[in-house]
Amino acid sequence: MKIRIKRILCYLLLVSILVSLSGAQQTNAATKYYKMYVNYIDVGESDCVLIQSDGKYMLIDAGNNGDGDNIVDYLENKKIKKLDYVICTHPHADHIGGMDDVIKTFDIGKVIAPAISNTTETYEDLLKAIKNKGLKITKPVVGTKYAIGKAKFTIIAPNSYDYGDNLNNYSVGIKLTNGKNTFIFIGDNETKAINDILKNKISLKADVYMCGHHGSDTSTTKELLKAISPKYAVISVGKNSYGHPGENTISLLANSKITTYRTDENSTIVATSTGTNIKFNATATKFNDSKDTSTSANNKTIVYITETGTKYHKATCSMLNQSKIKTTLKEAKAKGYEPCKKCHPPE
Ligand SMILES: [Zn+2]
Ligand SMILES: [Zn+2]
Repeated sequence: MKIRIKRILCYLLLVSILVSLSGAQQTNAATKYYKMYVNYIDVGESDCVLIQSDGKYMLIDAGNNGDGDNIVDYLENKKIKKLDYVICTHPHADHIGGMDDVIKTFDIGKVIAPAISNTTETYEDLLKAIKNKGLKITKPVVGTKYAIGKAKFTIIAPNSYDYGDNLNNYSVGIKLTNGKNTFIFIGDNETKAINDILKNKISLKADVYMCGHHGSDTSTTKELLKAISPKYAVISVGKNSYGHPGENTISLLANSKITTYRTDENSTIVATSTGTNIKFNATATKFNDSKDTSTSANNKTIVYITETGTKYHKATCSMLNQSKIKTTLKEAKAKGYEPCKKCHPPE
């Protein structure tokens, strides 16, 4: 009798496992991914990103004051009537400049902006546009999740309101997810705020990283890049006097072999996410600029000069039998030495 009960129980268990397994398979097969488009709109040395998923739209920043019309045109060309979210990462002119035009033109869902103000006219214009539309500002709370069409995003910054008067560090940061694809945006956050993002326990692992603060070295730290470990990076940058993108950022991206796209090289860049795959309509930047390689080769190439001559030589040149002074090709050229016609040293 006992054995029979055991057998029945075993049988029931087996049946329930099979049922749950087939159920799991069905949900897997039924999981459908949708396309999401991330448009890194070319606004020169500023930021503007449009995200589209299943007929829903979000705009992160809106370039400088002068970019407003172009951004409105870009959105109207896509037949957009409503922006379900607009994010004003922080109140600097190169991020909120055209946002008043955008808010005046389109229906707006939620306006997300940090609770930090600026005294500029550009910022006043933004507040006026928000007020005139009867909109309220939603303060970003780290960890809060929002849906945008079939995609979703999580607030990852700001983690503090204790950054003094460096407005960049109050930038709203988000992690955007479509199926298995993830994108990171951090506005102009710099090192102090970046360190707080790294501490907030939200995984930053992502496929695409939009370099903070137009590629500045103060944003893309080694630690941040390691935490994100992106396959792709995008830099929104134009002509500027700040040295953006920074040399350190570029060499970190190059050393990690991250495929990088720049708006100053491509103009507007569109990433298409299928939920499992991401494609860019742009050409990746070439890290090993031939100019750089030749300069660094010049720095290392060794040639020889003599005490009295005006030419530089290969180590084996017979002209060096009286004196032989070691130097670099760069140094020799800088001092006006010319290549020896007999030994043909590197030029
Ligand atoms: Zn800024
Ligand atoms: Zn900026």
